[in-house]
Amino acid sequence: MHYLITGGAGFIGSHLAEWLLDRGDRVILLDNLSTGSIENIRHLKSCDRMQYHLDNIENRQLLAELVDDADVIVHLAAAVGVKLIVESPVKTIETNVNGTQLILEAACKKKKLVLTASTSEVYGKNTNVPFREDADLVLGPTTKGRWSYAASKALDEFLALSYWKEKKLPVIVARLFNTVGPRQTGRYGMVLPNFVKSALEHSAITVYGSGKQSRCFCDVRDTTEGLIRLMDSRRAIGEVVNVGNTEEITIEDLAYRVKERTCSSSPIEYIPYDQAYEPGFEDMMRRVPSVEKLYALTGFCPHTSLNEIIDRVAAFFQQKTEGIDTHRVAAASAD
Ligand code: UDP
Repeated sequence: MHYLITGGAGFIGSHLAEWLLDRGDRVILLDNLSTGSIENIRHLKSCDRMQYHLDNIENRQLLAELVDDADVIVHLAAAVGVKLIVESPVKTIETNVNGTQLILEAACKKKKLVLTASTSEVYGKNTNVPFREDADLVLGPTTKGRWSYAASKALDEFLALSYWKEKKLPVIVARLFNTVGPRQTGRYGMVLPNFVKSALEHSAITVYGSGKQSRCFCDVRDTTEGLIRLMDSRRAIGEVVNVGNTEEITIEDLAYRVKERTCSSSPIEYIPYDQAYEPGFEDMMRRVPSVEKLYALTGFCPHTSLNEIIDRVAAFFQQKTEGIDTHRVAAASAD
């Protein structure tokens, strides 16, 4: 099969590309390197079943050609990270909404399967965990920039599902829950890489808010396998499916866990949300996926333990510091 991955030089995209190439598929990556990095795909460049284009989705002619060549389109290109979203809301909304629209429009002309990545953010302030895919989305007011990410992704979902209903374009919507692992950068505010980096440097681990908010962290290998299995399942077409791990931990406990597993002497400090993000910032207190639907459709659910995930992320940063080729190591450990 021939896959087009938008955002293919990103953290998740590069792992997905690697997995598909390993199983013998052909992969075309399209990435404008806004948050992705050529480093993420350097180790894949020698594979003759891989092509990459450093360009924008807005290049309609290129997009049409790439869609034409592909059997399946995986749309991962998006604005990522709460920090980025709070700082650049216009870019977030435009990237997420316009990008998805262009992909769906191009795919529809050729009726190519599209898997589009959404986010657990769409559940917003709903407190009724675990979140089932048919749960209400409870977003905060439009005056709070954070919710623009969830709202833009929810609109992407509506659009994708409408293309399926109205135009019979086969689509799958995957709602990803806090995907983590080697190659994820802390640059866009994600908690695990930031905690692990601080712990390894023995500098302060900064917990935002009370630290009582919780998350479930999913290893990128599990996320990748979930996405591939969904694309391989005809029954997933027209569906919205959570992809996440169900092991829940508070951010405060995560700070202590990371400190312990990395044998770090870092102090753990608390920073109010107002200071970490923006005045009046609202967080999601709990975010736990129901993976019943994923399991029913694919026979798979994410299983990598948090301890293993922390160790893998720590090993990645350690090797990076030591100048070891971390991408090859990450690839080997994904086998
Ligand atoms: N967080 C934190 N310290 C950091 C980065 C994030 O305490 O250095 C918190 C953040 O406020 C949130 C949780 O960790 O409650 C997860 O943040 P992340 O940005 O990784 O993902 P989110 O689940 O918010 O999309």
